[in-house]
Amino acid sequence: MKIKAKLTSGIGTLLLLIIVLAVLSGAYVLKLKEETNNILSANYNSLDYARRMLLSLDDSNDVTAGGRFMEDLALQQGNVTETGESEITRRLTDHVRQLSRPGDKETVKQLIRRDLLGVMQVNMNAIQRKSRLANATVDNAILWIITTGTICFLIAFVLLARMPGSISRPVRELTESIRQIAARNYKLRLGTGSRDEFGDLARSFNTMAEKLDEYDNTQLAQVMYEKKRIETLINNMNDPVIGLDEEGTIAFVNGKAAAILNTTESALIGKNAQNLALDVDLIRLLIRDVPGIANPGTKPSDPFIHIFAEGREQYFEKELIGISMTPTGESERRPIGNVIILRNVTSFKELEFAKTNFMATISHELKTPISSIKLSLQLLEKEATGTVNSEQQQLIGSIREDSDRLLKITGELLNLSQIETGNIQLVKKSSDPYELIGEAMNAVSKEAEHYGVFISKETEDDLPHIALDNDKTQWVLSNLLVNAIHYSAEGQTVGLRLLRSGHALRFEVTDKGPGIGEQFVSRIFDRYFQVPGISKPGSGLGLAICREFIEAQGGRIGVDSRPGEGSTFYFELEL
Ligand code: ADP
Repeated sequence: MKIKAKLTSGIGTLLLLIIVLAVLSGAYVLKLKEETNNILSANYNSLDYARRMLLSLDDSNDVTAGGRFMEDLALQQGNVTETGESEITRRLTDHVRQLSRPGDKETVKQLIRRDLLGVMQVNMNAIQRKSRLANATVDNAILWIITTGTICFLIAFVLLARMPGSISRPVRELTESIRQIAARNYKLRLGTGSRDEFGDLARSFNTMAEKLDEYDNTQLAQVMYEKKRIETLINNMNDPVIGLDEEGTIAFVNGKAAAILNTTESALIGKNAQNLALDVDLIRLLIRDVPGIANPGTKPSDPFIHIFAEGREQYFEKELIGISMTPTGESERRPIGNVIILRNVTSFKELEFAKTNFMATISHELKTPISSIKLSLQLLEKEATGTVNSEQQQLIGSIREDSDRLLKITGELLNLSQIETGNIQLVKKSSDPYELIGEAMNAVSKEAEHYGVFISKETEDDLPHIALDNDKTQWVLSNLLVNAIHYSAEGQTVGLRLLRSGHALRFEVTDKGPGIGEQFVSRIFDRYFQVPGISKPGSGLGLAICREFIEAQGGRIGVDSRPGEGSTFYFELEL
């Protein structure tokens, strides 16, 4: 039944009940009124006439002469209602007529009185009977009204108890279902049995839920498809890839990564990388710099990760990418994890090894012939093999300069190959710093003389001995001095300072040369780097080797420079 019909029938029933009760009560009231009126007009009036006739009979000697008595008699004659009353009234009329004739009036009067009392008696009996009837009617009315009232009450009670529930229950169910839909429970369906408006609503609701479910499934299928595509992409990458969520749990990993870790993807996905790192050194190495997950340890000397995988030595360069995103409805970006990509640099490494070996061999092989050239030149210069004219002397001088440069470059290449193969052999011993700088000055004195540059020395007093590799430190200091000489103009002075700096000894070489632009300062210690525009012929290796030598001894090297004002190269070694 439709809600409208339900409400109409409910309210209609209540209205009907009210009407039934009203009609019933009204009917009884009318009936009682009728019965009361009946008593009043039929019996009470007869009693009153009889009473008045009795009074008139006592007051007057001749009532037949007209007057009140005769009026009342006429009224009584017109108000005969009870059985036996007409007989008595007729007798009364006869006796009144006898009264007008001559005779014993007192006896007739007695008879009239008896008739009047008879009239009164008949009517009083009628009043009593009718009163009993009226009482019965009242009892009946009470019974019917109570019975009908009770039935009405019961019907109204049932309607009251059931109707609001039958309307509110489906509304409640619908509200709850809408909540479930909002919570993405699209599988929910409502019962469609009811044939009212709620049934229609439930059917529409079910259609909506079905459509949402269908849409959700298509979306899910699309998301799954995209996920698969990304997984395939990652899996097909030649580089090992490991994805971590913000808690450090491995979210995805490709086959290559699983292979170098000597396990399977399923054995890694969902595991906490930090826990795995307790047992697997390689994982510890991989997650070393992951922010918020592992504490960064000391920086490894080799920036490459060296792994024996797939039957051969392989080298990987690690790249760590922090992933962040702005969640839907928020404005701030939040970190959601990290991706570790290992670039396979084995082929580059192999080429580098070949190059380093080649460099080492060539420089080593060149050193001996160049040295013997220098020796022969010395003999020629000293005219040990015969006199040389001034032109020949000049030629010998330039050959010496070139062979010096060649020897410098081969020496640098040899040093570099040693550094690249990790073969720096430090021979540390306690050395006198004053002696060290004296030797360095001697080593470059000819160069300074040649370029017309002066070297001034400034040293703090009472500096202690220091443990260092004498040859390598000497090499560094000479290199810095030679650079300073080369970049100074003729007649300028290069300053050499030795001082204490905290717990270290600081060596400084200052020149008034062209200086180095701010944008190049961070790069001049890189291999093969030469400042564009100002550089003199050279290999660009000297400062790179200096840095390796100083850092290998636990020291630090740097430069303060201003373009146009000169540079101060310095290094510090811990005491
Ligand atoms: P090179 O063999 O070219 O001198 P270095 O490694 O010794 O190689 O120096 C690298 C570069 O740094 C030089 O090419 C030059 O541009 C710059 N440089 C080095 N020393 C100085 C200096 N004292 N003043 C200005 N520039 C310098």
